Amino acid sequence: MIYLKTKEEIELLRENNLLVSRALAEVGRHIKPGVTTRELDAIADAFIRANGAIPAFLGYQGYPAASTVSVNEQVVHGIPSDYVIKSGDIVSVDLGTFMKGFVGDSAYTFTVGEVSDEVRQLLDVTKEALRRGAAQAVVGNRVGDISAAVQDYAESFGYGVVRELEGHGLGRKMHEEPGVPNYGARGRGPLLREGMVICIEPMITMGSRHIVFERDGWTVRTRDRKPAAHFEWAVAVGHGAPDILTDFSIIEEAINA
Ligand code: MG
Ligand code: MG
Repeated sequence: MIYLKTKEEIELLRENNLLVSRALAEVGRHIKPGVTTRELDAIADAFIRANGAIPAFLGYQGYPAASTVSVNEQVVHGIPSDYVIKSGDIVSVDLGTFMKGFVGDSAYTFTVGEVSDEVRQLLDVTKEALRRGAAQAVVGNRVGDISAAVQDYAESFGYGVVRELEGHGLGRKMHEEPGVPNYGARGRGPLLREGMVICIEPMITMGSRHIVFERDGWTVRTRDRKPAAHFEWAVAVGHGAPDILTDFSIIEEAINA
């Protein structure tokens, strides 16, 4: 069942995802060598609550924190811990809000200090794959148009596209239909209609696409332990152009300040 949203409901989803963007910016400002991922999570939790929302990840299927913080070979769902961030790391932060009956969910991969050119390219390509996928989120297209745009761009650089995890519909619940895979064929899958809101979230690996689920029950890492990047936008399907509900410019202004 795909829930179509009214214009008013889309505005509530925008409010949530702007708050997520601001929370990611706040976390990003604090990502420096010497900080632990648990300290970053505490910043996310406090910021979300101070702005009138509840951390949507906390307690989700028993998840123990407000954010997921995934470092280097961790792809997604890293549990905040005593790990101390160091120069050269990449840190993927994913977090969610629940406010006014709706959910926000977006993610960004940050660099720490000096990272290699090849890691920098992995991040740039993953973000561009997201942008190309989102550009397909228009009325009359199908989910497969998004999937293929992401896959084709990422694979043209020889990167791996994680298949076991995917984007999703977003609304009153964090995970609604339809699923939005990061691989697939143009013209296939559910039709995109006005009122649909989806999260597009490429998870792209520098080496093989294969992943391992760690024994903590959450953390997903690359099998070959090469780095992975993850960027996520909430997007309302639009006429002719997508309506992007997440705002990375807030994050990038904060980390470049
Ligand atoms: Mg997310
Ligand atoms: Mg998501």
